[in-house]
Amino acid sequence: MSEEQAFQLPKSKGAAPLVSGTLYIVATPIGNLEDITLRALRILGGVDLVAAEDTRRTGLLLQAYGLKKPLVSCFAHNEEKQSKRLLELLQEGKTVALVSDAGMPGISDPGARLIRQAAAAGIPLTVVPGPSAGLTALVASGLDTDAFAFGGFFPRETKARKAWLTDFGSFSGTLIFYESPKRLIATLAFLQAAWGERRCCVARELTKRYEEFLRGSLPEVIARLEQMPEVKGEIVVVLEGYHKVKGRNLNADELEALGRSLLDRGLSKKEASRQLACETGLAAKDMYALLVSWGREEG
Ligand code: SAM
Repeated sequence: MSEEQAFQLPKSKGAAPLVSGTLYIVATPIGNLEDITLRALRILGGVDLVAAEDTRRTGLLLQAYGLKKPLVSCFAHNEEKQSKRLLELLQEGKTVALVSDAGMPGISDPGARLIRQAAAAGIPLTVVPGPSAGLTALVASGLDTDAFAFGGFFPRETKARKAWLTDFGSFSGTLIFYESPKRLIATLAFLQAAWGERRCCVARELTKRYEEFLRGSLPEVIARLEQMPEVKGEIVVVLEGYHKVKGRNLNADELEALGRSLLDRGLSKKEASRQLACETGLAAKDMYALLVSWGREEG
């Protein structure tokens, strides 16, 4: 965008002037350049400097709106050092806008450390809200929005995964998390094995040209993804929460069928006994003993 074409902000009577020494936490688009608020543009145009996760990328964003500002980098590996420097500048009275590559800073992005330290030091800070991929996907998913949890990026390591499953496995609200397209199918299959057939929505390329939503049960969505030559783009997964079937009364045959199907899906005896306990309301240790006893009979 040339200088002449630069976006003209409407004169807003209510717009408060920037306050010296304030940290402005500014959300930026998650794909569609139009998704930026008038306030964000006014703040970005008015601050002394912009602290950005990637200065080149943010430079291009500012350029698209006809803005030019001094940029300093603040990303995962220099956040500690840079936060110190930025706090000094804020204490000297400079105004600083903090932005990440996309969406809300601090949400699976750098920024949380600087924000925490600024708050602790009594530095005034304010958020200029805007898009965030997780909430955008949740709203489109059609799943329950009354209560939800954000699980960040789905963990890659076994130990962290186990902790993640424990943290969120019995949460009855909707679960939102980020995943790479390369691991998506394996992750959904893993969750189906652990938690059974929940409804889900895979939101791909939100706000962009090829935005897509795949909704259905986990096996249905997995089957559709498997038909694609390659899963590409940025992904958010929205997953239905755990619904306890209160006191579901299973007879011995039904209990055995359910237990065996869980083991067949690849769950360990411990995981399967936890799932059986959730389904039936019976004690997990009793379910574990039952699963072990089948092993003995067969052995
Ligand atoms: N701070 C961002 C926010 O507020 O959503 C999240 C940054 S995180 C490093 C990047 C991840 O967010 C991507 O890998 C993807 O999982 C998700 N994401 C970001 N933009 C997206 C989009 N347009 N469509 C789908 N997912 C997106």
